[in-house]
Amino acid sequence: LKTTKNHLRHVDSMSTLPSRAGKITGLNAVILGEALASEEDDLVFPNDEFVRQALVPSPKKYLEMYKRSIEDPAGFWSDVASQFYWKRRWAESVVSENFDVRNGSVKIEWFKGGITNICYNCLDRNVESGNADKIAIYWEPNEPGSQDSLTYSQLLQRVCQLANYLKDKGVRKGDAIVIYLPMLMELPIAMLACARIGAVHSVVFAGFSADSLAQRIVDCKPKVVITCNAVKRGSKVIPLKDIVDASLIESAKNGVSVDVCLTYENESAMKRESTKWQVGRDVWWQDVVPKYPTTCEVEWVDAEDPLFLLYTSGSTGKPKGVLHTTGGYMVYTATTFKYAFDYKPSDIYWCTADCGWITGHSYVTYGPMLNGATVVIFEGAPNYPDPGRSWDIVDKFKVTIFYTAPTLVRSLMRDGDEYVTRYSRKSLRVLGSVGEPINPSAWRWFFNVVGDSRCPISDTWWQTETGGFMITPLPGAWPQKPGSATFPFFGVQPVIVDEKGAEIEGECSGYLCVKSSWPGAFRTLYGDHERYETTYFKPFPGYYFSGDGCSRDKDGYYWLTGRVDDVINVSGHRIGTAEVESALVSHPQCAEAAVVGFEHEVKGQGIYAFVTLVDGVPYSEELRKSLILTVRNQIGAFAAPDKIHWAPGLPKTRSGKIMRRILRKIASRQLDELGDTSTLADPSVVEQLIELADR
Ligand code: ATP
Ligand code: MG
Repeated sequence: LKTTKNHLRHVDSMSTLPSRAGKITGLNAVILGEALASEEDDLVFPNDEFVRQALVPSPKKYLEMYKRSIEDPAGFWSDVASQFYWKRRWAESVVSENFDVRNGSVKIEWFKGGITNICYNCLDRNVESGNADKIAIYWEPNEPGSQDSLTYSQLLQRVCQLANYLKDKGVRKGDAIVIYLPMLMELPIAMLACARIGAVHSVVFAGFSADSLAQRIVDCKPKVVITCNAVKRGSKVIPLKDIVDASLIESAKNGVSVDVCLTYENESAMKRESTKWQVGRDVWWQDVVPKYPTTCEVEWVDAEDPLFLLYTSGSTGKPKGVLHTTGGYMVYTATTFKYAFDYKPSDIYWCTADCGWITGHSYVTYGPMLNGATVVIFEGAPNYPDPGRSWDIVDKFKVTIFYTAPTLVRSLMRDGDEYVTRYSRKSLRVLGSVGEPINPSAWRWFFNVVGDSRCPISDTWWQTETGGFMITPLPGAWPQKPGSATFPFFGVQPVIVDEKGAEIEGECSGYLCVKSSWPGAFRTLYGDHERYETTYFKPFPGYYFSGDGCSRDKDGYYWLTGRVDDVINVSGHRIGTAEVESALVSHPQCAEAAVVGFEHEVKGQGIYAFVTLVDGVPYSEELRKSLILTVRNQIGAFAAPDKIHWAPGLPKTRSGKIMRRILRKIASRQLDELGDTSTLADPSVVEQLIELADR
């Protein structure tokens, strides 16, 4: 209770408390224009027209709702949860948790005793409430020129057919199913079919190698693997079924054999005649699934029954099997989706993330469909046939909400404005970003060029572990600061702590933690509750530790500075890598930058910057100096990079995040300690970087 009070005091200071200088600080000051008058921060205000229609149209409204969500979480979330269908209502307590390792094992429960089904709430509920003929999915294939779609009632029928097939194969509540599919409509269909019968899906991004897939199959022992024969991404055909075959041989060696491999024939990429086949195990989706009835009884489950298992993207080491349960996740993803994107029933929503990542779980499938939204799903690559493809798709489906990652924004920015301005994009009204801190220059390009300075940007900070958004703008509610994720979502109490785990108030920077649970929190790491506690709850007892560094400015805005092990200590100055990267990327000839620390005799740690240049720009001594000067001018001499390393490409995970762990090893020339590179999208960039190390 005491900590909640402290937190609320902070909330108050966000809005009303005068500062020492006698001026009003915080969110209200920002609105009053006080902060604007005195500070260099450039605030980006939502336009009046947007504000008039916004779900949360003012800081006052936000603070009102936020305060209630913290003071009375049970009441706040019960009200939200009541909008869904529950076969039986949850127990009176709503939430029960032990968040503090010092008091025993960590345990989180929301809506325990409540009986529901998330597939029912995504589909049947929408069909029954008048949305039967509304488009649930628009599907855009790799090759431009055609499309496909499913209404809510058609989607429900497809899901039921697959659910019936799986039941027929003996799949029961609690069984695991591995899904290894590209962005076909069959991917959300498979997820929803599992949810319908209480099976636990584990989607593995269909870009992972056979070894990575095998590792996950061995870990969760699925009854069935669902895949397709091949996929075309850009001009490249990837034979997915061959990868699955290899992974199943590998899994069998480790004692896990899978009886059924349900394979969708993705005809445009590969004909079935060319697909290798193991009779008895392999089954063509198209041969069996359509024969099953289009209705299927729902398996009613407890709110705390597992919904899915998802391995994190592996930026920092061995992937962790994050487990989410049903009820809290349902309520949380639906609510965050609605408010963070200011969702209205007329919206056409496109999230470019793959369902192989948490973003595709919470904000392609569950969050939007719980709201009855129309979702665009794109099979291909955003630069095929050219870098204008995204805007072509936006115009084609009249997309209103576009949600993507900074890595894509930066790469499109590098390709030039003309690919964007060639298209109308006038349907757009909200933009979103996730995955990494978005540097202010990319933010501004996204805002000015893509959104024609009209669309608020929801820079959503969250994690596989959190299930849904944690710190995020609510479009229209307050002015934005480019590069800041702004304020906490309802029910979330972020705190910034120092090395000793003591909470720091006001303007500060440190380790980002969360105090007490929220409905979408993960409940364990599959099969390893001890690792769950060690990784997330032991570093700062009493809190959930995110692993990210963060600062809070005088107005209460939160700024993510990257993972804490990315914070560099140069002669006693704590410098977030994100800050230096952001300065580098603001240089007109720098397309992307990744900064790491390395051991430095004098300063303790030095700054080592990998830079990718804009296409066609040659690397030169002059450019090197000018890059360093840019950082000196923007941040200060103490942050000037000691070393610039030209990087035609950067090592990235398959979800597009820079893997700094490897860059640190290159920077310190510990080349025999590069570690596991199997989750890299393109392992060959590592060799290239090593070759260029001393240029
Ligand atoms: P692993 O945990 O296996 O190392 P990962 O952390 O990259 O992988 P995710 O759960 O997909 O796996 O990513 C969450 C992380 O992404 C956050 O902890 C944060 O570092 C970063 N992130 C996500 N969104 C934002 C954002 N809007 N601003 C800043 N950072 C973000
Ligand atoms: Mg992580």
